[in-house]
Amino acid sequence: MTNSPVVPEVDLSAGGRQVGHLRVPQSRDDSGWGTIQVPIVVVANGTGPTVLLTAGNHGDEYEGQVALLDLARTLDPGSVQGRVIILPAMHYPACAAGKRLSPLDGRDFNRCFPGDPFGGFAMSLAHFVDSVLLPVCDYQMDLHSGGTGMDIVPSAVGHILDDAGDDAGLQAKTLAMADAFGAPITLLLREVNAGPTLLAAAEKHGVVALSSELGGGGRLNPAALAITKRGVRNLLRHAGVLEGLPATGEYGPSRRMTVPDLAHYVFAPADGIWEAADPLNTTVEAGAPAGLLHRIEDPAAPPIQLSYKATGLLWCARFAGRVKAGDPVAVIARDM
Ligand code: CA
Repeated sequence: MTNSPVVPEVDLSAGGRQVGHLRVPQSRDDSGWGTIQVPIVVVANGTGPTVLLTAGNHGDEYEGQVALLDLARTLDPGSVQGRVIILPAMHYPACAAGKRLSPLDGRDFNRCFPGDPFGGFAMSLAHFVDSVLLPVCDYQMDLHSGGTGMDIVPSAVGHILDDAGDDAGLQAKTLAMADAFGAPITLLLREVNAGPTLLAAAEKHGVVALSSELGGGGRLNPAALAITKRGVRNLLRHAGVLEGLPATGEYGPSRRMTVPDLAHYVFAPADGIWEAADPLNTTVEAGAPAGLLHRIEDPAAPPIQLSYKATGLLWCARFAGRVKAGDPVAVIARDM
């Protein structure tokens, strides 16, 4: 039994299509009993696995939000065996603001897991997802893109799991699920600060779980949206919730790649304006110039040249021009 203060206004165990809200307490000066309404759609029929699909963990990442709105409207309950729980705008205040972080308290929702029932909006919502939704799930996918700051080659993304104990089979299941999603790239990585993410929370529950990176730059990329719409239906086919086999994209099967460590990142050593040497999705060499960091503070000094430290595909590139010291400006992926 959960001690969550979040009230789902749909019956998670009922059949058919239900559209409603999670009612999350958020006290304000002008509304002490105020709540924030987080949209939820449940489509269920018969018996089968439960799949949780989430988008809007970060509010400025749009392909997942639009693909899940489309799925929520068009998924026919009669075609489903099992249950699909859809949160198309999970961190609703950030989604409504078009921002990565919460306009309520500046929190990154994907650093809030496993949450705290009485820790405020984001923490109590994370706790509900962790303590109520994940325990009933077989599969989970949290749809991300690069956001305002980054642009990323469309990819299904899983964590590199320590190949021990209960995780031994989970890595293989993760890869199979990612391949089924059918993005151009299936990528395994060790994430910066993965611990408090939804993906890590799902893994702790033994749920076969994925994330994604499906574009970026704070825009809705039509090609990435098409990949995402096909991908979420592919996942449902892979899980056995929908009949049929996953459909392959026009680019063929997913290319399996990895970002094994932070040596595959290029970080800006100082504040500045980033001029990249290469476009996204270019093959690059270790030691080659990654770009120039321009410093407005010192007009007489030449820009700082940064180099790649690994050979591979320029998988993720800084999109916004302005960077701060410590920001990644490039991430290189290599074939698995
Ligand atoms: Ca994200």
